[in-house]
Amino acid sequence: MRVLERLDQIYDIGATRAGYSAEEDAAHELAADWMREAGLEPSADEAGNLIGRRGVARIWTGSHLDSVPNAGKYDGALGVVTGIEAASRLPEADLAVVAFRAEETGPMGSRRLGELPEAFVEVHVEQGPVLERLGEPLGIVTAVSGQARGAVTFEGRAAHAGTTPIEDRTDALVEAAKFVLRVREYARDGVLATVGALEVEPGAANVVPERVTVSVDARALTAKRLDEVIEAIGFEPSWRQDPVAMSGPPLEALRAVLPGAPELVSGAGHDAMVLAAAGVSTAMLFVRSLNGGASHSPDEFSSPEDIALAVDALTEVLAGL
Ligand SMILES: [Zn+2]
Repeated sequence: MRVLERLDQIYDIGATRAGYSAEEDAAHELAADWMREAGLEPSADEAGNLIGRRGVARIWTGSHLDSVPNAGKYDGALGVVTGIEAASRLPEADLAVVAFRAEETGPMGSRRLGELPEAFVEVHVEQGPVLERLGEPLGIVTAVSGQARGAVTFEGRAAHAGTTPIEDRTDALVEAAKFVLRVREYARDGVLATVGALEVEPGAANVVPERVTVSVDARALTAKRLDEVIEAIGFEPSWRQDPVAMSGPPLEALRAVLPGAPELVSGAGHDAMVLAAAGVSTAMLFVRSLNGGASHSPDEFSSPEDIALAVDALTEVLAGL
């Protein structure tokens, strides 16, 4: 299947394709060639997003080609190659396929779009175990969780690790460690909360830590719950995105094409979230992630059969729009 060959070709560039890197550029060049083959006219906007248009392209599909370090083959790339495949099956349709820049670090590209489409449909791997557990190949995303990110800094006093008695220390890392355990307590009832990064200063094995900065990532299904968890943890978000609902003709079209398909809320942010928040009628189609939902890892896997179903469904949805 051409879609699988293309996923391999993108992965061959590198399992690490950071936003705005040479590897992401190379993936965009490949996609631009495939767009031309599909009868789309590729061009880059100011943010570097690659948009392949045909006609008056008010309906868009696509995803991103950048990746996390040492990523899997499907996250992002699947949405671009299935979009191009669907476009090639609809040679008469006015539409566009987009490869957004730097989704994994932002998303950056989709936030800097110069123009907005009327409707957007994104195919993406689920990146979780729900569809695999349900035994369902495809799922319809109805909303994306709200997210807030920030950092908390703990101040202590640097001291010699060999000469300063324990009771005389103000150890910033010990306080930060207690905080990490507390954050974990808030991760329940649809809320997730994570400390994923620590910065320890001065960061030497023989010095009591003077300053520690910890990251906080909190997610919730409603804006109210997100407010509550931010307040409870006690951090100032440097970035926040309220939950966004998928809606309008793209969602209705997905439901019509896939009657009885399971409906899910995405805990991960996506370009679709950015477009929906900007007021674009947006829908997302999740493809089952096998291997227990492994994602952001080389173990990420979706079967050729499931991917074929996704291409069929996307083609039908785009044709209907
Ligand atoms: Zn992604």
